[in-house]
Amino acid sequence: MFALLLALAVAQNEISRRIERARRSLSESSHVNMTSVWLIPAGLLLPAQLVALLSVSLYVNMALRSWSGTRPGQPHRVAANATTASLSACTAGLAMLVSPQISVPAVCLAVAIYFVVNALLTSLGLYLANQANATVEGCLGNMDDNLLELATLCVGGLLVMVLTDEPLLSVLVILPLYVLQRSMLIKRLEELATTDQKTQLLNATTWQDGAQREISRAERDNGSFGAMMIDLDHFKRINDTYGHLAGDDVLKAVAAVVKQETRAHDLVGRFGGEEFVALLPATSKEDAIVTAERIRQRVSELVISTKTNEGAAVDIERQTASIGVAAYPLDGSSIEEVMASADAAVYAAKHGGRNRVVGSVEVALAAA
Ligand code: GH3
Ligand code: MG
Ligand code: MG
Repeated sequence: MFALLLALAVAQNEISRRIERARRSLSESSHVNMTSVWLIPAGLLLPAQLVALLSVSLYVNMALRSWSGTRPGQPHRVAANATTASLSACTAGLAMLVSPQISVPAVCLAVAIYFVVNALLTSLGLYLANQANATVEGCLGNMDDNLLELATLCVGGLLVMVLTDEPLLSVLVILPLYVLQRSMLIKRLEELATTDQKTQLLNATTWQDGAQREISRAERDNGSFGAMMIDLDHFKRINDTYGHLAGDDVLKAVAAVVKQETRAHDLVGRFGGEEFVALLPATSKEDAIVTAERIRQRVSELVISTKTNEGAAVDIERQTASIGVAAYPLDGSSIEEVMASADAAVYAAKHGGRNRVVGSVEVALAAA
């Protein structure tokens, strides 16, 4: 059984080496691998010494074959991961206490135990490794990471049944695992192609595409939408005073505010530098101005704890933003025209003394 599991795992690893390597180099956080597929059966069917040996062998194999290159695994991390996986699998093996033979409740319980123990140990490790910057998502992983881990464990649970009845049929698990890993890589590539990595908002191209779709929809349904352009005030001073990394933290904090103050289906993007855009479907200009005012208020109240280039802790406050608001179809019949109106409104806000929201009507009135 040990030899079979090891052979399957090494074969699977060899087949998906390039995918694993790409996934790893493209994910900036911790990342879920496929080892639990083999370790769940090991936990239930093998003695603890062999579970540990299998886990260590798998991690050494991955570290040498898949992870070397772009982002090699640091030895202490590989050791910690292999240990965590061994402990999770051995604890999952305790599920055999519920019935002397492999049974449905025992397998389900083992999957649940593995998931919980692995999540606890991994998040504890990640928390202890970087307590100052620890976040819940950073330690526990996001929804997708956890779903992938659960999916892997479920396949592992099915594999237990196959291994006990028809061991050779277990070869069939390799292709589904390969496809699962590949689909995760594609999803990650999609994310990278559509989001701004600094703020996690839409990037300019994706925002434009979405806005184009929104205008087609509004044209078809005789609908309307509001749009705003947000430009941070005197942002260059932040960079000049505290350094670019502190500036980046301000950008992240502002992006989070804009995201929080808009609805889930609003299109929020980063246009470049310190400029953000939001398109609010089925929203009048008046309502868009109310939202913009809320954003302006919250940005001005932000206190951002960050570090200067020299590493000194600093709280940045009183950052403000100038916001221009325009609407379709009032201000134009194309996205370019609507955004040009919003941009002119930002310009008017800057001239009016910054830290304010200006609607495109006021710009037109002022010009008249
Ligand atoms: P104003 O109130 O007139 O908008 O002044 P401003 O300083 O905000 O505008 P300006 O366009 O002169 O400067 C924008 C600055 O934004 C310049 C650039 O260094 C900075 N910037 C652009 N992108 C980034 C980024 O990704 N990170 C950081 N830290 N700074 C950025
Ligand atoms: Mg600007
Ligand atoms: Mg600016």
